Formats: sequence, C-alpha cells, structure tokens
Amino acid sequence: MEKAEFYLVATPIGNMSDMTFRAVEILKGVDLILAEDTRVSGKLLKHYGIETKMASYNSHSSEKTKEYIFSLLEDNKKIALISDAGTPTISDPGVKIVSQLYENFSDQIKAGFLKIIPVPGASAVLSALSVSGLPASEFVFYGFLPHKKGRQTIFKEIAGNNKTSVFYESPNRLEKALKSLLEFCGVGRKVFVARELTKLYEEHLFGTVEEVLEFFQKNPQKIRGEFVIVIEGI
Ligand code: SAM
Repeated sequence: MEKAEFYLVATPIGNMSDMTFRAVEILKGVDLILAEDTRVSGKLLKHYGIETKMASYNSHSSEKTKEYIFSLLEDNKKIALISDAGTPTISDPGVKIVSQLYENFSDQIKAGFLKIIPVPGASAVLSALSVSGLPASEFVFYGFLPHKKGRQTIFKEIAGNNKTSVFYESPNRLEKALKSLLEFCGVGRKVFVARELTKLYEEHLFGTVEEVLEFFQKNPQKIRGEFVIVIEGI
C-alpha cells in the first residue's frame, strides 16, 4: 500500500554540483515539490532535468495552501520541501509545516502511514564550521541576529559563551556585527568569516576580531555576497 511521504531536501548553497544523487532521485519521484521561490528553484530543477510539478511554500503561505498539502498527504501522495539554498528549516521556511504535520497526523505517523524524511546535503552553518578550525563538537547557532531589539543581548551572550558561536549575516550588517563583536568580546578573540562558500569568490578570513574587521574596512569591495561568522568560545 502507498504511504504518504514528506521529504525535507537539501539543495546546494552555491555550487550546483553539491546536489546529492538521492536529492535528485527524490525530487524526480515525488508528486509535488514545495519551493520557497519557484523561480529560484526552477533553475536547479531544470539543471537536473527534474520535471516534477512545483508549488510555492514560504512563511507567508495561506491556510489554503496548508490544507492543500494536508489533503495530498491524506491521499498518500509524496511531497518534497526545498528552500532557495541549503537545508530547509535552517533559517528558512518549513518548521511550521513540519510541526503541524506532527500535530495533525500524529496517528498516521505512529502507524507508519506518513513518513517525514530528511534528505541531507549542503548547509552554510555546517560548511563554515567545518572549515573554521574552531571547536565544532559543541556550538551555538544563532541564525540571523535580530536587527534591533535583542541584538545586544546576543552579542553579550556570544562574548561569554564557552562554546563556538555561529551566525548568519548580510553584507550590509557585516561591519556593524564585527564592530559589536569587538566591543563585547574585546581584542584578541578569534573569529572566522566565511564568504560565498562553494562559489566563485569563496573566501575564508581567520584572525582576531580586530584583524578581520580591519581587513574588511580596507577591502570594502569584499563586503559582498553571503556570510557566515564563527566565533571562538572563551
Ligand atoms: N537554509 C540555508 C542553509 O542551510 O544554510 C540558510 C538560508 S539563510 C536564508 C541564508 C543565509 O545563509 C545567508 O544570508 C548567509 O548568511 C548564509 N549562506 C547561505 N549560503 C551561503 C554561502 N554560499 N556562503 C556563505 N553563507 C551562506
């Protein structure tokens, strides 16, 4: 008997080749792909010859969309969720629908009629951490920091953290974030900044927070693209 399946499929964070064989297979085989942005994912699907029907799913999706997803699962269909890049739900949409599946379909899940399945692959947080040289057995991931309220509290927490801290930052806040790290952590604290991982202009900066800040102040043309910041624990 057919069983419903809901896959969380990781896609590349830049380099198109960082797509697993399994991810391609699953995306070819499901009945529907839910994509954060169908135009962005359309390019990836085309590249891999995946012709599965797509629908948009993001944090603004309506109740009607959710009901449609639930109805497909009730009909034992297979659905895959992907985001624009990397692993869905990691600072990306998807958490809500997954938690609702556990609530609304708890009996079916227990009976094995609905499976929620991860298809692992690229993620910026783990890629940055893996090349940072900083202890990665234990770390605290903050995702994107709040822009205003709560931002200082997090920097204070990072400053006092005995584990490695990681967060995502946009180019227009990178310098501000490094200045805050310097203010709260003080000179000498080691940081690793990963820029454009897996892409043409990939770059890794490792040094004390004041050295890395100075580098970007002297090279403002490098404050471009996507960034992950990794900070050593105390
Ligand atoms: N779900 C994604 C993942 O698993 O990594 C993260 C999505 S989040 C909306 C996007 C942020 O992740 C970017 O602003 C950047 O901070 C980080 N990021 C994504 N791709 C990256 C890359 N190739 N290099 C550096 N950082 C990246």
